[in-house]
Amino acid sequence: MITSSTAHTIIQKQRQFFSTGKTKDINFRIEQLKLLQQTIINNESAIYTALKADLHKPQVEAYLSEIGLCLEEIKHAIKNIKSWTKPQPILTPITQFLSTAQINIEPLGVVLIISPWNYPLQLCLAPLVGAIAAGNCVILKPSEIAPHTSRLLADIIQKTFDRAYIAVIEGGIETSQELLAEKFDHILFTGSTNVGKIVMEAAAKTLTPVTLELGGKSPTIVDADVPIETTARRIVWGKFLNAGQSCIAPDYLLVNKTIKTELLAAIAKCIKEFYGDNPYNSQDYARIINQKQFDRLTKLLQEGKIIIGGETNSNDYYISPTVIDEISWNAAIMQEEIFGPILPIFTYTDITEAIARVNENPKPLAVYIFSRNQQIQQQILQETASGGVCINDTLSHFVVLDLPFGGIGTSGIGSCHGKASFDTFSHRRSILNKSFLVDIKLRYAPYQDKLKILKWLIR
Ligand code: NAD
Repeated sequence: MITSSTAHTIIQKQRQFFSTGKTKDINFRIEQLKLLQQTIINNESAIYTALKADLHKPQVEAYLSEIGLCLEEIKHAIKNIKSWTKPQPILTPITQFLSTAQINIEPLGVVLIISPWNYPLQLCLAPLVGAIAAGNCVILKPSEIAPHTSRLLADIIQKTFDRAYIAVIEGGIETSQELLAEKFDHILFTGSTNVGKIVMEAAAKTLTPVTLELGGKSPTIVDADVPIETTARRIVWGKFLNAGQSCIAPDYLLVNKTIKTELLAAIAKCIKEFYGDNPYNSQDYARIINQKQFDRLTKLLQEGKIIIGGETNSNDYYISPTVIDEISWNAAIMQEEIFGPILPIFTYTDITEAIARVNENPKPLAVYIFSRNQQIQQQILQETASGGVCINDTLSHFVVLDLPFGGIGTSGIGSCHGKASFDTFSHRRSILNKSFLVDIKLRYAPYQDKLKILKWLIR
């Protein structure tokens, strides 16, 4: 295991490796992406075991939201890397007569990726794909809160890559802070808004650019004209996948008053269909990550009226899929990101009420709109702001690799996925190349009456 005391030395070795120029070779990058791909494929069953041990994550969820997503990212990067890295020619103005211009896409150097525990594999490896594709050396700091996945990542990555190129540094807050005290060329942090502020403050000391993938309360607005069963199914899936521990899980429901009873009945039916009469016994339902999160979430159950679920078991941090009604907007559950399997429900009579509620909170990572009415869809799009939007589904915008994924305001800075990850870890270097053939004297002193000609040229 690498400890933080060796971090400085590893970063220096990575700087040396980067300066050899090896990572600038596109074929080298493609080879490394293929190595990563093979590593994931070869270790599929060990990944399932680690995710089960950390989160009781069902295999289908592990494949869908962790392994599969990383493999998709790799395939996408390999397919597009040549076009992403191509220098972009730029037209020059007449004032730059006999010159050519272009933008070269260059790697940044040594970058740091800090990840959270909820999708502990994917949130380490998906940004890593972008960093490799862009030609960087990388330090990965997985979350100590998902120790089995962190251990496995360190193991498989270090068996595949030299530490002078990609290094996994395991550890908790202290390790993270020691890393943040070092100079990097970019930091991509995924985690909570509060820690995001700490990361940005630390990065400011070395003027290091940051991408912050943070959290927030993502609202789900449900209009009266929707097909109730499909809507319920899509909400239940997005909310209770990974036991609600997703950054873009629907945080709360804002439902048109006229369909509330019907929607709640459909949600209850759907939970039964997905997880059986007792979700505790379901192999398809995850657990809360640890005691701290379990205690935080069970406290949130104390206000409002539980209308579905509400069962807990502290032995294995189980909280059943839960829906809460009659909750006040001032309740504790509405003051923080829930990040667990508890879904408060509110109603509205006019869409402007729902929009006003959404706008009372900081800009969320996602807004979910369930409506067939295009005018309502447009109104919500126009009058709210969020990192992303998904209409008539939940979470799915996350998997469209050509849609940049990121927050706005307190839900994040910058974006990743597909080309957005590549861009995050690249520098667009502007280059102007002038010919010696002619040297027009217009810009040189003595200026005399050159202003008139200049004005004519730049009109
Ligand atoms: P966290 O902020 O507690 O931890 C994230 C990482 O930061 C971990 O690696 C941890 O070791 C490190 N860390 C924790 N405290 C630190 C400190 N004081 N100084 C320096 N480093 C520190 O987040 P978490 O609990 O692991 O994850 C949950 C949060 O992450 C939620 O808010 C969720 O919405 C967010 N999240 C966002 C996305 C996204 O893509 N936007 C994805 C997943 C999770």
